[in-house]
Amino acid sequence: MKNKKEMRSWLDDFKLDHPLVIAGPCSAETEDQVLKIAHDLKNTDVSIYRAGIWKPRTRPGMFEGVGAIGLKWLDKVKKETGLLTATEVANASHVKLALEYDIDVLWIGARSTVSPFIVQEIADALKDTDKIVLVKNPVNPDLSLWLGGLERLYTANIKKLGVIHRGFSTYEKTKYRNNPEWQLPIELQNRFPDIPLICDPSHIAGRRDILQDISQTALDLNFDGLMIETHIDPDNAWSDAAQQITPKVLVKMMEDLKIRTLTSDEADYQNQLNTLRTQIDVIDHGILETLGKRMKVAVSIGELKKQKNVAVLQTKRWNEILGNMILEGEKKGLSEEFVLKMFKAIHQESINNQEKVINS
Ligand code: PEP
Ligand code: MN
Repeated sequence: MKNKKEMRSWLDDFKLDHPLVIAGPCSAETEDQVLKIAHDLKNTDVSIYRAGIWKPRTRPGMFEGVGAIGLKWLDKVKKETGLLTATEVANASHVKLALEYDIDVLWIGARSTVSPFIVQEIADALKDTDKIVLVKNPVNPDLSLWLGGLERLYTANIKKLGVIHRGFSTYEKTKYRNNPEWQLPIELQNRFPDIPLICDPSHIAGRRDILQDISQTALDLNFDGLMIETHIDPDNAWSDAAQQITPKVLVKMMEDLKIRTLTSDEADYQNQLNTLRTQIDVIDHGILETLGKRMKVAVSIGELKKQKNVAVLQTKRWNEILGNMILEGEKKGLSEEFVLKMFKAIHQESINNQEKVINS
């Protein structure tokens, strides 16, 4: 797949002076709920109304969506508010129904993007469509799988394409529901700068208090839009209650977000600089995260040494680590001097921590 400028044109057609905003409930629940939210969202920055009607739930027994009846409600939304409509499709029959009801934007969910068979089935069902089709990242942090989904759609002659970053599953519990792993969308953007890139902070966060921060990071990384779950009564939503916000809170959030616009050379320079600086911030956070993990392991070694009554400093092991790291660092363009200094500092911190354990 080449970098296709045409993929961008649908986004330019909106002629927005702010990022594209897709909002609406996680799930369509009742006709009344769907329409109330939509009316609260019209005349805001929102251009596209989202609502899941077929819900892929990780475990059975939870609310699995209202099904095709919800398509009628979305049609009403379009007629009454002028908002475009969007829903998730996960197989050929969903596609057929969504097209029948003239849904404007179809997205492929994270649990579907992982399966090339499913994506191919959806691509075949959508062949030649002029609808906008968005591909969420797969649940696992695999850029090829994500791009592969996009390629299958592109090959089916679907030109209005975009991607949604909704974070990645991890075994380890973090403050996120789905870890953002920003380096993946950054790499996707570096490789295909013209593919519209939308962030879904709701599914990254899993909770409403960090939506603003995640959205700001996305905008600082030059994302083209945001998809944010919005509900009139978030706490009583039938799915994803903890992460939804009211239309009013969404409007306030959009006001508070710092949006950078490309108006001049100077703005363009500032834009690029900010994007790169945000990339550095993301990487620096990762470095600290990794160092923190390393220290925890060092402390466990300290506990083991204490039990066995072994000395903290093991010179042979240390020289081995250092030699390997210098060789590996060289391959990555890091000087011997830098690698030595850095690892000496890390090693010293480990020794200090282990001594604390042994003397405790
Ligand atoms: C959703 O958007 O409601 C959804 C189910 O998202 P995801 O596929 O990202 O989990
Ligand atoms: Mn949801």
